[in-house]
Amino acid sequence: MSASALESELRRIDRRGYRAYKDIAGAYDLGDVVLFIDHVQGDPFAAPSKLRLRVDTQRAGIDPALFDNRARRVALEDYLARVARRVIHDVCRGARGSGKSGAVGIDAGGQEVLERTAAVVTEDFVELRITAGLPAAGRSVLAREAIALLLDDLPAVARLSLYADELGAAEARRFVDTVEDQAHLRAQLAERGLVAFVADGSILPRASGASDRPLSGKDVVPFVAPDSLAVELEGLHPPGPVRGLGVRRGVTLIVGGGYHGKSTLLSALQRGVYDHVPGDGRERVVTDARSVKIRAEDGRRIASVDISPFIGALPQGRTTTSFTTDDASGSTSQAASIVEAIEVGATTLLLDEDTSATNFMVRDARMQALVHRDDEPITPFVDRVRELFDALGVSTVLVMGGSGDYFDQADTVIQMDAYAPRDVTARAHAIAEAHATARQREVRAPLTAPHPREIERRTISAARGKRDVKIDVRAVDRLTFGTTDVDLGGVEQLVDPSQTRAVGYALEALRRDLEDGTLAEALDRLEARFDEDGLDLLDPFVRAGRHPGHFARPRRFEIAAALNRLRSARLVSRS
Ligand code: ADP
Ligand code: MG
Repeated sequence: MSASALESELRRIDRRGYRAYKDIAGAYDLGDVVLFIDHVQGDPFAAPSKLRLRVDTQRAGIDPALFDNRARRVALEDYLARVARRVIHDVCRGARGSGKSGAVGIDAGGQEVLERTAAVVTEDFVELRITAGLPAAGRSVLAREAIALLLDDLPAVARLSLYADELGAAEARRFVDTVEDQAHLRAQLAERGLVAFVADGSILPRASGASDRPLSGKDVVPFVAPDSLAVELEGLHPPGPVRGLGVRRGVTLIVGGGYHGKSTLLSALQRGVYDHVPGDGRERVVTDARSVKIRAEDGRRIASVDISPFIGALPQGRTTTSFTTDDASGSTSQAASIVEAIEVGATTLLLDEDTSATNFMVRDARMQALVHRDDEPITPFVDRVRELFDALGVSTVLVMGGSGDYFDQADTVIQMDAYAPRDVTARAHAIAEAHATARQREVRAPLTAPHPREIERRTISAARGKRDVKIDVRAVDRLTFGTTDVDLGGVEQLVDPSQTRAVGYALEALRRDLEDGTLAEALDRLEARFDEDGLDLLDPFVRAGRHPGHFARPRRFEIAAALNRLRSARLVSRS
């Protein structure tokens, strides 16, 4: 239908009850922009309507080189959503009546660049998936405002966001190149025997505890790798060598005085599984994509996890080979998180003393003398960290400023000294020789790979009230799955609420499509589907080719983490 058809339809329903807006659902050819009205909200105060704006890729002048491989296309889509957010802010003048009238939005990202449903680029068309509050006076249709919104503002948003001009084209190229560069650096880690790389000049600290933007000002110390730990990877944009710190596979210890930048380095590494926007400061900090941050999380749920490598028989004879609890302690939660991560394929663990349970990390000689090993269920991490790598190939990067007991275990020891990394490996090893720790290694049995678990399908349900599937996300760490709240506060590598939403729907997809097999196999299938079909059909009620809702791609580890924390879920060990 045409613009004039939409306009006369809107005039026809002017002042009618809000539900009359349902009549305008459909597709409208507005000349250089096609407007799709996919979902009309039921009420001016309800969640806003879902619309799409589509332009022709060639007519918009979008350079095909901006999306000629997967990394570049994902980057371009992420970029266009950001541009549209900026344009919406400039063009759309906000309230056009009651409730959410006139509020226009797009689900663009933060410092990380993620595969997301907010924008789509194909050879034929470019599309923005937006939300808009259809204008109302009280609860009746405001045609004049709706015409201005749908026929003036939104086409302008599409044109200004998607039609390439000189300036925009240069910025788009820089954005896409920066992202592709990161993917290229990350792809070199494995063959170089590295689990992470931090390029010289990187800016790791963030503006504040509440802001993920880079810290700025004269006191910021850019990262520079010491010669002995420096490697050169091959950059793509610009082509040529990139010097930086290479964190090798094995056991890496980050030591140093308090407030010298240890946790800041580890935080950058845990975010390095994602790509970052130009200017973030961490554009050349890349980490093994299978790295998982492990932290203590007392109070969390644990379902049938074999934590016995770390925690032996508990008081009252409770065994730990298939440990279930609704209220984990710091040490049991940390043990479970390690086993769960490895179960679904983690190859690097990231730990920080700040977020670890002390009794899980260390047990020194004096404590060993006082509390007999038969009275201590915990095998501290220090006694397993070496074996994790030697037996299972799982590397660890660990911040530990408080105990030298790890010196003997570490392949590399990096000291953060006033925000500068130094290689103190030789000294740490010499000290370990000179001052032998009097502690005994306390392990009950050799470390073995975790048992695969299977999901009991009927124990996962997103049903609430009359709805079969009701999934809400209030914040990046707050998922409500059916009637169950899932606390994801300890899942630090979730970075975007739309990832959390995708995690919720991914759990529903696991329930629906569960064939026989283990959790790891189910995640393999889910990821293959994401690769093939994208995220559009995560919501089971969305039809193909419609506005899919707001999703950003989560990793398998975060999907598993949510399942592992879902209090209703039962998993069975297939040992
Ligand atoms: P640690 O874990 O060693 O105690 P943190 O990593 O928490 O220290 O850092 C302490 C403070 O120093 C933080 O406020 C952080 O933002 C700041 N900081 C970290 N790295 C740098 C840097 N390279 N330049 C300037 N400030 C930094
Ligand atoms: Mg710290």
